[in-house]
Amino acid sequence: MDDVEKNSLGKASSWWLQKSLEKLVQEYKKKFNVDLLVCEGDALKILERFIKKYQIKEVIWNRLYSKQTIQRDSSLKKKLELENIIVSSFNSHLLNEPWEIKNNSGEFFKVFTPYWRKSYPFFLEKNYSYQEIKKILPIKHDEKKEQFYFLPNKKWYEKFEQYWIPGEKNALQKIDQYIEQNINHYKINRDRPDIDQTSRISPHLKFGEISPRVIVDKIVKNTVTNESILTYLSEIGWREFSYTLLYYADDLKYKPINKKFEKFNWVKNKIQFNSWKKGETGFPIVDAAMLQLYEEGWMHNRLRMIVGSFLVKNLRIHWHEGENYFQDCLLDYDEASNPAGWQWVSGCGADAAPYFRIFNPILQSERFDPQAKFILKFLPQLKLLEKVKFIFQPWLNQPVLNELIKSNKYISPIVDLSVSRNKALDAFKEINQKI
Ligand SMILES: Cc1cc2nc3c(=O)[nH]c(=O)nc-3n(C[C@H](O)[C@H](O)[C@H](O)COP(=O)(O)OP(=O)(O)OC[C@H]3O[C@@H](n4cnc5c(N)ncnc54)[C@H](O)[C@@H]3O)c2cc1C
Repeated sequence: MDDVEKNSLGKASSWWLQKSLEKLVQEYKKKFNVDLLVCEGDALKILERFIKKYQIKEVIWNRLYSKQTIQRDSSLKKKLELENIIVSSFNSHLLNEPWEIKNNSGEFFKVFTPYWRKSYPFFLEKNYSYQEIKKILPIKHDEKKEQFYFLPNKKWYEKFEQYWIPGEKNALQKIDQYIEQNINHYKINRDRPDIDQTSRISPHLKFGEISPRVIVDKIVKNTVTNESILTYLSEIGWREFSYTLLYYADDLKYKPINKKFEKFNWVKNKIQFNSWKKGETGFPIVDAAMLQLYEEGWMHNRLRMIVGSFLVKNLRIHWHEGENYFQDCLLDYDEASNPAGWQWVSGCGADAAPYFRIFNPILQSERFDPQAKFILKFLPQLKLLEKVKFIFQPWLNQPVLNELIKSNKYISPIVDLSVSRNKALDAFKEINQKI
């Protein structure tokens, strides 16, 4: 691992990386009697040292797609080829290469549906078939096995062990089980954090423990197509679409695809931003979601949209702040899907939610957590409010909310939903007038 990867690693995903590499080293030893080496430092220097010492003639790797990794890998390739090393790179991270899928004008797609309509059949034509690795030539080396250590100082990650088992073996088992038991109900269950029946495969995908190609191959071979399956596949498609944006857009992490938003009047408010991060906004669905992120290193997709909309619209805090915070806290932090997700929520991305669609956290709770089961899992103290409608809006039961506030168990809302909504809409009108 060199600086390019290290710089984009958040604290939570460092935990996953550590555990995933430990598993990989163990599994390669057990299965193939191969001593894998994990090296940290400048990629070129490390490779050149090994090439010289072991007279290596060929180097292969899987491709990555951010501008920084492309730059690093192209330069590596050029330098190694000058030393007569054969360099080959492959794709296992995506179904299709971003440059393979173009619209009729030869440009990349900016709208998801036509993109996926072209991209999915294009992948199927490749006739990809998952093969388990059966044998690896034993490699003899006399390198000292160095200890690698990527874990952050603060040990909040210890509880992740309760929720996750990193590693390829578990990724494969998880997807097989998901296909067998849950995928047929994906369309109706996918939006319900209380039911919690999405596949939770995202951190495994992020770390290359499973390829989307394997997932699609398994789905195609083991299911009969129905609406749920098509919906699940299209979510894999959103991941692909995000990579197209990462590859083609000008700096997805920092620059809005819709340039109008460069002039948006964002608010700097550290106090409110901290309240959002800590799950102390006074809106139970937002707070429970942020507590889930802290507890599990993961958040349900519906909740990512709700907390995102709340941050960028009700608080009008820049999406960069949310994107960075997610980078640090998500085990599945992905350099394509995270900025694309934030740009989508903010209304400035490709095929994004229109800015004026401002999620109302109360209506979202009613629709997607109708018995407040999810909220109560993370905020059990709100049971005191008794009725579900009060759990969604604690201020409707002011005497009990006062008690909760007095005992430091909950807080009053940090913004007025309708006032903040109108301010957001005004700010949006302003950028439209500036053009
Ligand atoms: C603001 C925001 C930030 C996000 N940040 C990330 C991120 O850093 N990493 C990440 O992997 N996903 C991100 N997503 C997308 C999505 O929330 C997660 O992929 C999903 O919640 C992962 O859970 P799952 O594996 O159970 O998903 P499932 O519903 O089981 O879907 C299966 C797979 O499809 C892909 N997928 C599903 N929904 C999306 C989507 N909307 N966009 C892109 N791919 C999708 C993922 O690879 C996911 O693992 C973000 C979404 C938003 C709105």
